Amino acid sequence: MNTSRQIVHQADMKSTEVLRLYADGYRLVCRYCKIEFTTIPETLSPGEAPMFVSCPKNMNHMHLVTDPAHAMRGVRARMNLRDGVVSPKAHMKVVDHEPHFWFLLEEAGALFLDVNCSHSFLGYSFLIQLNTNESAKYREQGHDFINKTAQAIQYTAPIFQASQSPYKGRDLSQSHRDRVMAAVAAWRAGSDEQP
Ligand SMILES: [Zn+2]
Repeated sequence: MNTSRQIVHQADMKSTEVLRLYADGYRLVCRYCKIEFTTIPETLSPGEAPMFVSCPKNMNHMHLVTDPAHAMRGVRARMNLRDGVVSPKAHMKVVDHEPHFWFLLEEAGALFLDVNCSHSFLGYSFLIQLNTNESAKYREQGHDFINKTAQAIQYTAPIFQASQSPYKGRDLSQSHRDRVMAAVAAWRAGSDEQP
């Protein structure tokens, strides 16, 4: 990573300015979290502006969707390239959430829990697919069960090597990140609810 091309995002930056900076090859850094924003596409060609920009830790810090319809088409096109033809029903969608903490997503009948974990300076997303037992408990107990599960993930810090977390090894965030982000972007675009 070439850190000289990083610029700290400022509160007064207009979205056009943010997009122009990306098109000029800069990566923007969250002024609160001091980490780079996530973009879709992840890697931009020279002159290319992202369709989606977000702070990976807290979407209140930055969340920019240039054109949801366009963004979704782009994501879909790339999914089709990678995974073969994806039927509309297979698209991941948000089914429940707890602000600043987790999203519950559904794709082709499977449930995925995306937890926004933080341990002092370190923030990261941890994504698991709910197993049969967990899915049954969610159907039974709803939102509360997901809250408990997300807390268990956060407290057991499964990304650390020394962690004894039962969730260790279940993280799918690398392979599923684009789909999760697209689902969250679509959900926000169609929702009046403030994050
Ligand atoms: Zn941030």
